[in-house]
Amino acid sequence: MERHLAATHEEADALVDLSNVLRDERLGGHHPRSLHRLRLVLDALADRAGDRAVRVHAVADRSLRRAGGAFPGPAEPALLARWAGRGLIEEAGDADEPLLDLAEVTGLPVISRDDFRDFRTSHPWIQGNTTQFLAPAREGDRVVLRERDMGIRTPAQISRKIEESDLKAHGLLAGRHRRPMREIVTRHWRCPERGCALYDRRRGSQVRLPLMRHGVPVCELHRAPLADDGPRTGIVQLKLLVDGACVHRFTLDADTTVEIGRAPDAGGIALYRLLPEELARRVSRRHLIATVTGGDLTLRNLSSRGTRLLRPGAPGPVPLSADRGVPFHVNDIAELTPGAALTRSARRYPAEIAAAWRRSGAKAPARGPAHADTEWL
Ligand SMILES: [Zn+2]
Repeated sequence: MERHLAATHEEADALVDLSNVLRDERLGGHHPRSLHRLRLVLDALADRAGDRAVRVHAVADRSLRRAGGAFPGPAEPALLARWAGRGLIEEAGDADEPLLDLAEVTGLPVISRDDFRDFRTSHPWIQGNTTQFLAPAREGDRVVLRERDMGIRTPAQISRKIEESDLKAHGLLAGRHRRPMREIVTRHWRCPERGCALYDRRRGSQVRLPLMRHGVPVCELHRAPLADDGPRTGIVQLKLLVDGACVHRFTLDADTTVEIGRAPDAGGIALYRLLPEELARRVSRRHLIATVTGGDLTLRNLSSRGTRLLRPGAPGPVPLSADRGVPFHVNDIAELTPGAALTRSARRYPAEIAAAWRRSGAKAPARGPAHADTEWL
């Protein structure tokens, strides 16, 4: 299972609420906690993503491995401890908070059956969400992942639940001091000071996040409130699969058109070094063309050998059109030749956003009133 665990979210295809999955007795097994359930969920995700080498970033409550007797044997909590020691899984006092923060800034799906009712005030994006949460469900002798409708919880339901779980103080604190991160990370910002290019989106690809002061994004140098410089387009990430396992990831820039093939012209994505020779020989020099418009991706075939498009739930593959761009969604597969394919990952925001947020979190972990007037995103 280790090869499916990503130490950072950057190479992950999904986030896993590890305590929730390991405790989910509906997935099978006779023990209150079991690692076998993670195995079933990883298989389900591999099926869904069409990638045998699919990877997850798993976050666990620190208490998960404490109750050793709840597991089928002592080897499982010992393995969890080793994974935590090597940084393959992340542990926290309460995993929900880092899990939801990461989900918010990366756009990655969250595998959990939790309702996250206590967090609907601090994470309003959960309300009514029908795409970002996946529930494992037993289907015969295997497990499948289904998109969840998180529904809307009313303030009365939320506050009742918060009271029930004795998290009232925490919830109020989160509601008052937490910045709506999604509103900040999904916009570009610009400093009004003349000549200040610190946040200039045209200056390069590096993502720089504003400093937050009293809920307002300000320039790190000039402390002036930043001007909204338009929406930050979600990124598109493609994965190259060899024999159904991811071997490489490419990030496509917004509003670009790029050729992909064995050896396309300059500016294209060349696959010849990334594929085994016998596969590379069967891929055309210019095999297909990808166009990113906003957050949407379309593919068009260029190869005389053709490209086959496989969609989840479709009865079978269809030839990719050579005449017009065809929308390419998360988990769709474009087969260049048997054994070599492209698929689209679920990542929506640049990895740098979450990385910057993680670094700032490490610097100032406390979110209490003492830190509330100036905090890094
Ligand atoms: Zn400035």
